[in-house]
Amino acid sequence: MGQLLGKSVYLTGGATGIGRAVADAFVAEGARLTVLDRSVEQLRELADRYGDSVQCIEGDVTWYENHVRAVRTAVDAYGKLDVLVANAGVFDGFAKFADVTPEALTDAFDILMNVNVKGYFYAAKASVEELRKTGGNMIFTVSGAGFYPDGGGVWYTASKHAQIGLLRQLAFELAPDVRVNAVSPGGTLTALKVIPPLQPFVKTVDNETKAQNVKRRNPMRMVMEPEDHVAAYVLLASDKSKAITGEVISSDGGLSVRGL
Ligand code: NAD
Repeated sequence: MGQLLGKSVYLTGGATGIGRAVADAFVAEGARLTVLDRSVEQLRELADRYGDSVQCIEGDVTWYENHVRAVRTAVDAYGKLDVLVANAGVFDGFAKFADVTPEALTDAFDILMNVNVKGYFYAAKASVEELRKTGGNMIFTVSGAGFYPDGGGVWYTASKHAQIGLLRQLAFELAPDVRVNAVSPGGTLTALKVIPPLQPFVKTVDNETKAQNVKRRNPMRMVMEPEDHVAAYVLLASDKSKAITGEVISSDGGLSVRGL
């Protein structure tokens, strides 16, 4: 308790899934949050639950103005910004490159890269000056797909590799003022959305099949829940990790020791 006491945190995609678990854990550790998300109903639930500890902003991460509004809200409400967690994302459903038409490829590229990559660029850009003032830090939600094949299709995998590039270069450029790190979750049971242009090329799988596939892929044979990842976020956001920057904490059931 209290590892993030008094910290002001800006979180994207905090209404559901991994972001929501991070929101719950951060509030429990004493942080105050500003959350940008497009899921209106779930945002309302978050606001009702936490009252003054959470500011909720409805909006899309692909619009820079929404990030500016969120950072301004955080500073107005809590006097400063200590941490950015860029987390909002969408999925390609493992759509196979060879099956997808050029038109769908283009639409999918634009939508997925806009949310997963430009959304993180924008969140970082809108936050950087306030984070410099507090000696704060950024945390990106990346993915095993940022390192290995078979964590998604080419769109998702390329977007997660791009997030790692953003992380490394920003950690270099922003040192010694701002730390930049990431958490890399493995397959986790959430409602991560397959983008519309790729839906015709994707087989829908029920939760039981999804769980079996996830278990098969990682050495710990785990189906991860959002709560399984939150300790890594708390550590990176806290003053206990002052010497850590440019790093990724993998929370993925051991994907790096899969073997052949
Ligand atoms: P989720 O769908 O439960 O959460 C994503 C959140 O982002 C939702 O609240 C959604 O409304 C929001 N969002 C999506 N697009 C948005 C947009 N354009 N503007 C504003 N908000 C938007 O899924 P999740 O699995 O919790 O995903 C969170 C992050 O975790 C993503 O970056 C995802 O790539 C990553 N991740 C997920 C898994 C997994 O297996 N679920 C594994 C590794 C990494």
